[in-house]
Amino acid sequence: MSEQRVALVTGGSRGIGRAISLELARSGYAVLINFNTNLDEAERTRSAVESEGGQAEVCQADVSAPSHRDLLVNFTMETYGRIDLLVNNAGIGPPARTDILDTDIDDYHQVLATNLTGPYFLTQRVAKAMIHLLETQRLPSPAIVNVSSIRAYTAAWNYGEYCISKAGLSMVTKLFARRLAEYGIKVYEIRPGVIETDMTAKPETRAYYNQLIGHGMAPIDRWGTPEDVARAVGMIARGDLPFSTGEVINVDGGWHLRSL
Ligand code: NAP
Repeated sequence: MSEQRVALVTGGSRGIGRAISLELARSGYAVLINFNTNLDEAERTRSAVESEGGQAEVCQADVSAPSHRDLLVNFTMETYGRIDLLVNNAGIGPPARTDILDTDIDDYHQVLATNLTGPYFLTQRVAKAMIHLLETQRLPSPAIVNVSSIRAYTAAWNYGEYCISKAGLSMVTKLFARRLAEYGIKVYEIRPGVIETDMTAKPETRAYYNQLIGHGMAPIDRWGTPEDVARAVGMIARGDLPFSTGEVINVDGGWHLRSL
């Protein structure tokens, strides 16, 4: 088995996932960059990794599809022969913000399949691969990271399916953290606040947050960057939380703090 550690980053091609892929490559990981539809963005990320001397491969797979999840793990194992870190980062919002009195059932299922069912079963699949590897080899700090959102605990009545998916993902973190501790596999949730990516790029979304940010929305009152999130993943990837699992790491400028 190669000495180099290997990370699988879902949605590693754009936005937060791209920053995570770069951070992990800088931390010495070979990175499997997953994407769903946009090969050009995935190739851009691979080039960025390689231009810094890192190693990366790209793999198309829709995390909401069971057969694609199998393909993704098989491709990672066939390419690199090991997997040390899974980052469940891929995520989508509903096509439109809709009052929960009018949620479209197909949108609901699509968001849940991508943001919750996908990470759940990908974690299950990767955990089994890690356990199998650990029977014969040493992985220095095997870990699984779920990228959730402040919406895991914030009730946005026009973004209901997304909130539910991220609340569910919080429990996925706790469940697998408890189950996998005996193997030394740590599981963490990273909970970003408002981050400047394509997901928040629609003019009306940007205008909405621009109205709030800089006017006291959070104690650290600025847009978050993909790199802010990536640095938290880097900390986990380096094994810097050896006595913690099931932990939530807020990357939200302190938005979660209540004050009176
Ligand atoms: P983004 O810029 O829209 O990028 C989404 C990434 O996910 C892309 O790489 C996309 O690949 C991939 N993806 C989407 N659906 C997929 C699927 N079914 N299978 C595989 N890959 C898929 O989003 P982002 O802002 O970076 O968000 C990344 C994560 O952070 C998400 O889980 C999101 O919920 C979470 N988050 C974001 C914010 C924020 O303010 N931006 C805040 C809190 C949490 P393609 O381009 O190929 O489709």
